[in-house]
Amino acid sequence: MHICVIGAGVIGVTSAYLLARSGHTVTLLDALQGPARLTSEANGGQLSYSYVAPLAGPGVLTSMPGWLLHQDSPLRFHPRLDPHQWRWLLAFMKACTATHSARTTAEMLTLSYLSRDILHDWMNEDPFDFNLRKNGKLIVYRDAAQVESARQQVSQQAALGSHQSILSRDEVLALEPALQGMAHAIAGAIFTPDEEAGDCNLFTQALFQRLQAMPGVSCLMNTTVNHLQREGGRIVAARTSNGSVQADAYVVANGMGSRDLLRPLGLNPLIYGLKGYSLTVPLHGQRHTSPDISVTDYQRRIVYARLGDTLRIAAMVDIGDETIALRPDRLDGLKRQVMDTFPALDLSGATPWAGLRPATPQSKPIISACPQADNLWLNVGHGALGFTLACGSAALLTALINRQPTPIDPTPFQ
Ligand SMILES: Cc1cc2nc3c(=O)[nH]c(=O)nc-3n(C[C@H](O)[C@H](O)[C@H](O)COP(=O)(O)OP(=O)(O)OC[C@H]3O[C@@H](n4cnc5c(N)ncnc54)[C@H](O)[C@@H]3O)c2cc1C
Repeated sequence: MHICVIGAGVIGVTSAYLLARSGHTVTLLDALQGPARLTSEANGGQLSYSYVAPLAGPGVLTSMPGWLLHQDSPLRFHPRLDPHQWRWLLAFMKACTATHSARTTAEMLTLSYLSRDILHDWMNEDPFDFNLRKNGKLIVYRDAAQVESARQQVSQQAALGSHQSILSRDEVLALEPALQGMAHAIAGAIFTPDEEAGDCNLFTQALFQRLQAMPGVSCLMNTTVNHLQREGGRIVAARTSNGSVQADAYVVANGMGSRDLLRPLGLNPLIYGLKGYSLTVPLHGQRHTSPDISVTDYQRRIVYARLGDTLRIAAMVDIGDETIALRPDRLDGLKRQVMDTFPALDLSGATPWAGLRPATPQSKPIISACPQADNLWLNVGHGALGFTLACGSAALLTALINRQPTPIDPTPFQ
């Protein structure tokens, strides 16, 4: 079959790669000049297989007023006269229950573990370099009550296959001495030894290179899909800035761009851009000043990952700022908090970046046939976990398109 995949972020490229590997002719299209130029460019780098709990958790609504009042809060809300924003927020608020969150976490773990297993297979088979590190992850808590609720989460997740332990402050500092600067504030931590980190941009580029070398694959960059032309219940062409592409099937994997393509077909997916920021800090000569293990400062929702000779720091969820403009007040706030945690780290050479997480209210991606046309498929809405979930999402999509038995239950992602 000839399959046209729209979007060359981490989701589109992994989808195109697995479809090509399973024998299809593939045309991959992207509006930008190369792969991973948008949200997949400089994200937090976490392969967060065991931390897939949705943003819509039971404590979120009560924490929200405090977050909204605090200047350097991890969450900022800009209300808009935008029905889509309010539809999304209402669905998000409805999902903020313990039952919902526990169910979603269990469903997401099936997809994240599938992703991990596929990535490990690829790395065993024919490895490529994207600064992958299997150095474990510490979620550090500043509040004793949060350590207690983390304890419950650890025991729930143990039943679902996660290997995690709760550490005291002294154990945290023994494991990661770079956290000394916040020693006074540490109440405890969860340590997950088998978590990984890597550079999503390098991963996507490497896979893209492999894809380009495969028979039957064309990658057309600088090619914007303006419209999907539907006739007789099927998509017959992708109308692009460089002419038409005709294929037997079409995969919408263009993240934040998916609503614009799907709305004219009568589908308005609840995907909203949750803006976040990152800093990439060169570490030459100052490796001891930053963590070697991936760290999440839970209260501030800041993640730290060592990627090659840099430290990647990512944070913030800004709702209602659907641009990728770098706002100095948010970046200054982030830098202040980083300096408070790692006082010896030199941020003067840090490269700032912002991206929009293409998020559904329940934090679950949509990996599914699209009812609007017989030959249209979706792989969108990966929110804060697109890098973590990419391989599993592509494998699930490929099995669905090939009408093969699926590696996990596809129902939660439809
Ligand atoms: C601050 C931040 C930190 C993050 N940290 C992590 C992390 O630590 N771990 C993790 O797993 N995830 C993380 N994420 C989430 C992750 O980056 C995203 O889920 C992922 O990049 C989404 O990938 P995508 O391919 O769906 O979208 P994108 O990477 O945005 O790719 C979509 C592509 O589609 C193209 N496109 C759009 N419309 C069209 C069109 N009409 N025609 C042609 N092309 C089109 C775009 O040009 C783009 O290249 C983070 C995100 C942010 C913002």
